[in-house]
Amino acid sequence: MKTGFTHLFIPGPTNIPEDVRQSMNVPMQDMRAPDFGDLTKPLFAGLKRVFKTKTGRVFMYPSSGTGAWEAAITNTLNPGDKVLMSRFGQFSHLWVDMAERLGLDVHVIECEWGTGVPLEEYAKVLEADKAHKIKAVFATQNETATGVSSDIAGVRRVLDAAGHPAMLFVDGVSSIGSIDFRMDEWGVDLAVAGSQKGFMLPAGLSMLGVSQRALEDSKTATMKRCYFDFVDMMKVNDDGYFPYTPPTQLFHGLKTSLARIEREGLENVFARHYRLAEGVRRAVSAWGLRLCAAEPKWHSDTVSAIVVPESIDAREVISAGYRNYNISFGTGLSKVMGKVFRIGHLGDLNEGMCLTALSLAEMSLRDAGYEVELGSGVAAAQGWYRESHEAAQLRQ
Ligand code: PLP
Repeated sequence: MKTGFTHLFIPGPTNIPEDVRQSMNVPMQDMRAPDFGDLTKPLFAGLKRVFKTKTGRVFMYPSSGTGAWEAAITNTLNPGDKVLMSRFGQFSHLWVDMAERLGLDVHVIECEWGTGVPLEEYAKVLEADKAHKIKAVFATQNETATGVSSDIAGVRRVLDAAGHPAMLFVDGVSSIGSIDFRMDEWGVDLAVAGSQKGFMLPAGLSMLGVSQRALEDSKTATMKRCYFDFVDMMKVNDDGYFPYTPPTQLFHGLKTSLARIEREGLENVFARHYRLAEGVRRAVSAWGLRLCAAEPKWHSDTVSAIVVPESIDAREVISAGYRNYNISFGTGLSKVMGKVFRIGHLGDLNEGMCLTALSLAEMSLRDAGYEVELGSGVAAAQGWYRESHEAAQLRQ
């Protein structure tokens, strides 16, 4: 029999803070009641602050993040439109796959898994596209499968340097609300997020930031859409209503999670994610292992994908953790299955929780046959957490 906590260290769904969980435990209510907007309107405003958009708007769909990927494409593009994308992990792959299945003409740049959005290649393709045939450029800000973060401000710079008018689509499912993201400043037209990552909620709510430019383009976009149509949303959203039954409980949870984020302060949330992630990275080095992220510039502050030696199957590490120590680590997906295990470090987390994960990871690695020195990674992370905690205190 399992006793105590089951530790959840996958990169989403993440731990739900107790106050967020309790706030969802409310009776059902009428989503057409005259005061329903009192609950929902502040959520749109709160999400705009997290997305850092004053000029755009944010839609909420009762779907997982994948739904907002589809909403972004079908509302703003036409069948056969040329778009520029890059593939360097399972989630960037799935967005490419969706774009192709929806009938876009996708120029895909294939990249090593462990790298991210290839700015130089994007620059070359955009410079060469003098006729501006490319209608949209896509970027996965945080590739959850490999633990790689990309430079979205850099993509904007590349577009501007080429004088290219393409729209900028960003997948921020495992970054928005946890890693720096600036929709207006970076000129992002479509920004996708999901409830079960940095927003610390169950899955089931996707959020889509949409710029005025994208709203304008949606008026003439001919791709078929129904459930996700911006027009249906806009008809009722301003008064706080939805064109279909919304997930009211998730809205209550979101109200509490947005309040938590605001209380901590968005910049402090980012700083905490960096500090916790850096402890994990130091532990990985102390174990004599490496990250899938090929260079520090690709390091993700929300998830670390840890490469195990060839003689070991990473699935054994995950299964030992689950069977023996009540902890869930993220598995390797697709190309990196068996080669990496992932530690998700996003959402409601602190040093103690990360140290538990690292300590159980050491035991699981040993159980799977890797002779890691027990305590080595934990000690490295402890050192960093103490040192960085002191530095953070001094700054206050
Ligand atoms: N994009 C990224 C970067 C993700 O990590 C995920 C899910 O983990 C998705 C998209 C898909 O989101 P969902 O599973 O909520 O549909």
